Amino acid sequence: MTTHQSELTIIGTGMAGMAAACFAADNHIRTAQIGVNSGMIYASGFLDLMGVHPVATGQTRENPWQAIAQLVEDVPDHPYARLRPSEIETAMTRFLHFMDEADRPYQFSPGRNTEVITPVGTTKLTYAVPRSMWAGAVALKEKRPCLITDFIGLKAFSARQITDMLLPRWPEIRMLRIPFPSGGASADLYPEQMARSLEVEKNRLQLADAIRPHLGNASAMGLPGILGIYKPRRVREHLEKLLGVDIFEITTIPPSVPGIRLKDALEALVTRKGVRLISQKRVLSAERQKNGNFILGIGDHGSKTIEQIIESRGVIMAGGRFLGMGLHAGRKEISEPLFNLPVFQPEDRALWHRTDFFDPNGHPINQAGLEIDDAFRPTDLAGKAVYDNLFAAGSILAHQDWMRQKCGAGLAIATAYGAVQAFRKMC
Ligand SMILES: Cc1cc2nc3c(=O)[nH]c(=O)nc-3n(C[C@H](O)[C@H](O)[C@H](O)COP(=O)(O)OP(=O)(O)OC[C@H]3O[C@@H](n4cnc5c(N)ncnc54)[C@H](O)[C@@H]3O)c2cc1C
Repeated sequence: MTTHQSELTIIGTGMAGMAAACFAADNHIRTAQIGVNSGMIYASGFLDLMGVHPVATGQTRENPWQAIAQLVEDVPDHPYARLRPSEIETAMTRFLHFMDEADRPYQFSPGRNTEVITPVGTTKLTYAVPRSMWAGAVALKEKRPCLITDFIGLKAFSARQITDMLLPRWPEIRMLRIPFPSGGASADLYPEQMARSLEVEKNRLQLADAIRPHLGNASAMGLPGILGIYKPRRVREHLEKLLGVDIFEITTIPPSVPGIRLKDALEALVTRKGVRLISQKRVLSAERQKNGNFILGIGDHGSKTIEQIIESRGVIMAGGRFLGMGLHAGRKEISEPLFNLPVFQPEDRALWHRTDFFDPNGHPINQAGLEIDDAFRPTDLAGKAVYDNLFAAGSILAHQDWMRQKCGAGLAIATAYGAVQAFRKMC
């Protein structure tokens, strides 16, 4: 079996793995990356940096930087505390630049979070918004006359629910439900198929003709996240031209087209940047050699047969928590299956969850993960780095609850940046 050499290997193709691969490639590090589908295809596409702190009171924060400063004071073990604010900012700025390079641009308001509409008609604060959704944030802020359109047969999105939820604070929001012009005879519509169909100009013309008579005084229009898979900008701009209003997407319930687009765009970008991306495979075994290099066995999760080997000078673990399978929740304890690293966790399984599912403090299991030192290296029980060339990033890290803190993407991107910087320093 051939052994491939790499300077750095990244385990995981979620947000943390993808960000780490981009940062590594930009630093001219010879990089390999391995992973199967991550939670990214279920994600909204929003990049949260810090939206809620403290979680116990559910306090939403308009200024993510002030929130991070407060968090680091209150929770000194949080992974954000391993980075200076200027490093977190650099990580976010560079990542947004990568998204421009990938032709999936984002927009944000410097220094503050933006309020955006969710698929269920609530709103949330996020840091960076896909360009295709930005006009929705503006329309919401300015309470512009707005039409939300959905389609008969599309179950993943309800314009009625969204308008009903927002009407009390947005008097000029209305809804429209129409058949999808190129929907065919099928009773059910699926966002991905609709998005593909709108790549075709004829279908966009038909859609615009169907909507035009209902626009009234609307100056903005929201559609489910179906505006193209490969050329979303062209699809949206064409519809805007045809209808003469600002058009924005609201993501559907998962799996979402914006999430699929993000995944496809990042995979194409890292490949273009020269990363050796081994997709739909897992790292099945990891061993450290006498010279310090890691030997990683790669193969299918199902068959467990090792198909190729990578020898690597350093490794970044970005395997996620339970969904990504970077951590394993067994009958008695939570373990890290690849390197058998110590996992920070509640002392007893009975303490994993609180009795109230909606307990505002969250569940202790959502703070479980790898503890790291200032160089993003997983530590042993004495707080010492287990290996000098093994790093970790993203949701696999302990002492954070990204879902409640609304910091999923930001945490992934910032810690990926920190881990790559630490690898560079080590070399
Ligand atoms: C439904 C949903 C909605 C979300 N919405 C938002 C949002 O609105 N805003 C936001 O900022 N964030 C959101 N997120 C969070 C965000 O997308 C990321 O999931 C989160 O930031 C964690 O990313 P990660 O890369 O650390 O882990 P994961 O996304 O879990 O990725 C882990 C990766 O590691 C791989 N892996 C694990 N073990 C191995 C192995 N042995 N070998 C090879 N590969 C391995 C997995 O296959 C996977 O590719 C959402 C996530 C979900 C699931």
